[in-house]
Parts: sequence; C-alpha cells; structure tokens
Amino acid sequence: MIHSDHSTLCCCAFQSRDINARVNVERNSSSLCFHSRRRPGHAYRINRSNRKAPPPPPPPDYENDNGEGLLRVVAMYDFTAKENTDLTLKRGEEYIILHKQDQLWWNAQDAHGNRGFIPSNHVTEKNKIEVNRWYCKNITRTVAEQLLRQEDKDGGFIVRDSSQHGVYTVSIYAKTLGITGGIRHYQIKQNENDQFYLAEKHLHKSIPELIHYHTHNAGGLVNRLRYPVGRCVPATAGFSSEKWEIDPSELTFMKELGSGQFGLVRLGKWRAQLKVAIKVIREGAMLEEDFIEEAKVMMKLCHRKLVQLYGVCLHSRPLLIVCEFMENGCLLNFLRKKRRGLKGAWLISMCQDACEGMEYLETHGFLHRDLVRDIKAARNCLINEHNVVKVCDFGMTRYVLDDQYTSSNGAKFPVKWSPPEVIHYCKYSSKSDVWSYGVLMWEIFSEGSVPFGCKTNKEVVEEITRGVRLYRPHRASQQVYGVMYKCWHEKAEGRPSFSELLAEVRRLAEQQD
Ligand code: ADP
Repeated sequence: MIHSDHSTLCCCAFQSRDINARVNVERNSSSLCFHSRRRPGHAYRINRSNRKAPPPPPPPDYENDNGEGLLRVVAMYDFTAKENTDLTLKRGEEYIILHKQDQLWWNAQDAHGNRGFIPSNHVTEKNKIEVNRWYCKNITRTVAEQLLRQEDKDGGFIVRDSSQHGVYTVSIYAKTLGITGGIRHYQIKQNENDQFYLAEKHLHKSIPELIHYHTHNAGGLVNRLRYPVGRCVPATAGFSSEKWEIDPSELTFMKELGSGQFGLVRLGKWRAQLKVAIKVIREGAMLEEDFIEEAKVMMKLCHRKLVQLYGVCLHSRPLLIVCEFMENGCLLNFLRKKRRGLKGAWLISMCQDACEGMEYLETHGFLHRDLVRDIKAARNCLINEHNVVKVCDFGMTRYVLDDQYTSSNGAKFPVKWSPPEVIHYCKYSSKSDVWSYGVLMWEIFSEGSVPFGCKTNKEVVEEITRGVRLYRPHRASQQVYGVMYKCWHEKAEGRPSFSELLAEVRRLAEQQD
C-alpha cells in the first residue's frame, strides 16, 4: 500500500542556511601559487598508501586564481585515484580545492597535504544537504518508490526534494505494510522556532539531527530509518583527468550485449574492476579519424542522464569505444518487456530522464541529431540498474559510413523520427531533436510500439507533409499528448526548447506525486 502524508506543510529553510564554505585565510605573498594547470614536469605530491610517514601538511593555502579564498569541499563518494596525478577521495572527508582545471576535474588537497585531481561531481561544499548519503537529489516520488521496492529492505529510506519547492520528503519502506511491503512519504516540517520535525513531539535543530534521531527511534513513523537507499556513484568524465586514451590491455571482454550500427557491443571490465560497455567498431563502419578528434569533446559531456563516454583505445584495431555500462539495456526492449507493469508515473519519469539529458546537451550547444536513430528510436536510450534512463550515442550519426543510413532517401534513415525540414532539406538543429524527442515520448507511452505502424517511409513523409501527426497513445493523458504534440510543430521555431519541455514534463511528473 502506498500512503502519503501531506497533512501538514512546512517551509524548510535548510538551503538558506547553507554556509558559504570558503576558507578565510590570511593573504600572504610568499604563499604557494596555484595558478598552474597540469603540465609536464609540474610536481605533484603523489597519493600513495604505502608511504612510511605522512609528510607534514604544506604551508597554508591562501587564494585561488581569482584572488578568492579557497573552497573547502566534502567528498560525497569514495574515488580511487587511477593515476599518480589524481587524488583518492574518502566519503565524508574534507578537501581544499586549489584550482578548477575545468568543470569536471579539480586540483585538490587532502588533510595530509596530498594533492591531485578529483572528479568535481564527487564533492560538494561543506554543510550542503548533499553531504549526507541518505539524500538523493533530483529523484521523483516514483523513482524513490522503485528504488525502495527494488532494495526490498525493511526500513530502507530516501530523503529527497519534495515536489513543493524547498521542502524535503522522507520516503520509507516498511515490510509490515501489506504483503509485498509498502512505502510512506513524510514531509520534513519546520515550526516557527526553526526546528525540524517529522512527528511534532520530536523537534530537531537540523535535518541531519532529525534523520539521526529517526535512525534510532521510529518516533511516530511507520518504521525506523534503517538503510539509506538509492544513491549511486556518478560516472566520471573519463577514468582520470584529461585521460581519454585507454590501454586495451586493461580491458577484459565478457558477454555480448547487442549489436548496432557500428558493430558489436560487449560487456567488459576495466582494470578487472569497473564494469564497462565496449563498442567494437567494425572495419569500414565509422569515420574513425573524425570520431577520435571529437571524442575528446564528447568525453567532457558529463551528466547523470547521459551515458558516459570513458575513453577510446586509439591505437588498436578494431577501434574500441569504452562507455558506462547500463544494466537494463536499451529502453525499447525494456518497454516491450514490462508493458503494463509500467505505472503512468514511471512512464513520465522516463520522459523526464531523457529530457534532462537532452536539455543538458542543448544548453551546452552540442548539436545532437541522433537522439533517436534508425527505426528503433528508444534504442538510443539505455536504462541502468536503478531504472534511470540515459541518452546515448549523441552525435554519432556524423561518423556513420553508410549512405543508406545518413541520406534522407536511404532505406535506413530514421524518417519516422525526423521533422519535415530534415526530410526535405537535411536541416538539423536542436529543434529537430525536439521533434525526435516527441516521438520518443510517444514510444514510451505506447509501451514500445512502432510509430506509424507498418507504413512505409514514403507514406509517412506524405502524411507528415499533409500535417498528419501520430495519434494519442493509449497510456497518454490529454496533457501528456499535448506536450508531445507541441514537439511536432511544422516549423522548427514553433517547437519548444528542451528547457521549456523539461519544465512541462516536470510539472506532469509532479502531478503524479
Ligand atoms: P552502435 O552505437 O554501435 O550502433 P548501439 O549503441 O546501438 O550500438 O548498441 C547496440 C546494443 O548494445 C543496444 O541496443 C544495447 O542493447 C547494447 N548496448 C549498447 N551500449 C550499451 C551500454 N552502454 N550498456 C549496456 N548495453 C549497451
């Protein structure tokens, strides 16, 4: 049974209490300079666990490139340094950021004075709620419920953002609720004295204190908060900073996952530890030189709703492309397998995931004309073990060496996912991706049906040109259909942007909450 506790509202001021965590240290002209980027010959203290005695911490750090106090952060996840130039992170420990090399990798120093690069998505500023392993950012009620059920642990819990802005909700799984276990959602409330509570009798100075209390006492909840659930370690942009070439001898090959335009995709392990997907590029299938040039840029695209590219084995042939492994494979098969098992809220949450990935690509100006490629659109989205949908293969069409696929008259061209300006004039833009995204939404809400059924490409072009559009899929409400329909405006400029779409999809998801 799913029960919702919305009886009381609160306005949680946790975020407003965030402390600006910059280190206030005295200026000193004799201090070390942190302006240097990594370059050959630049000395870094190496993070080795077998060192005899820890070195004394270096002189205090003073300021960054902009003359501001250095940022102190806390690790949200463990990270093991893969190269000597990186720094190992331990969850919960503090680090000082010396230099932000780029958005993704930062030069940091630990409490022992060790320095090296760390993935920026593994740390957060001190005193942020993200520091706590029970907090899951950006997950909806539906996803929280899925995660709790999947984990199937009595007392499993997640603290997440409520659909009400600035408010947090605790979702708890209790086996005592019904035969298959049930979930309750409690908003964290705040009284006029700025005290937080779930049950009015037990007031706390902060949210972490409140959670700590309820891990030991049910205190009016359906269960004690026993196991934090659902936080998964984000993929890093490459295995290490600025390293995009992968040594093939560090890969082991396991089972076949599928095959696509470029060849076979195999499950594998990197350095016998990390599961990865390896694309083995068939000879003659890809414009390899062009891809290799672009891969450096593609690796820098790092977002929790994009399948992460880890790197490329440059010098071996066949060319190997290594990326994040997605346990549940392609979205299309998943939809077809689950069908009725997918609640409406789950369907919209899948649309939201894909839209978040696309919005990131849009805001980073990355031309993407391959959200949905070939005649199985949802094939280009993959789904991981936590049922998070991620967009993959972005921009890969540009490297396909197959006219049947790349030419709009070609038999393999994804006509059913293409807007009129692409079909007639090969005019791509992020608005052509918006059209494809609408078709992806349609596929999700029709549980993996083929758009336009068995109509030929020619018939589809005629219909689209006459203004005919896909019908409302049986699982879509009028509101949901309204959103996908907007994506199919005849003129590119009449279609919404991904950020506008995301706002609408989020609203639809909240209504399900
Ligand atoms: P290509 O880009 O070479 O055409 P695809 O990306 O279409 O290959 O992949 C073909 C199939 O391989 C997919 O349908 C999926 O089942 C599987 N696959 C691809 N990438 C991954 C991945 N990262 N994790 C898990 N399975 C994958």
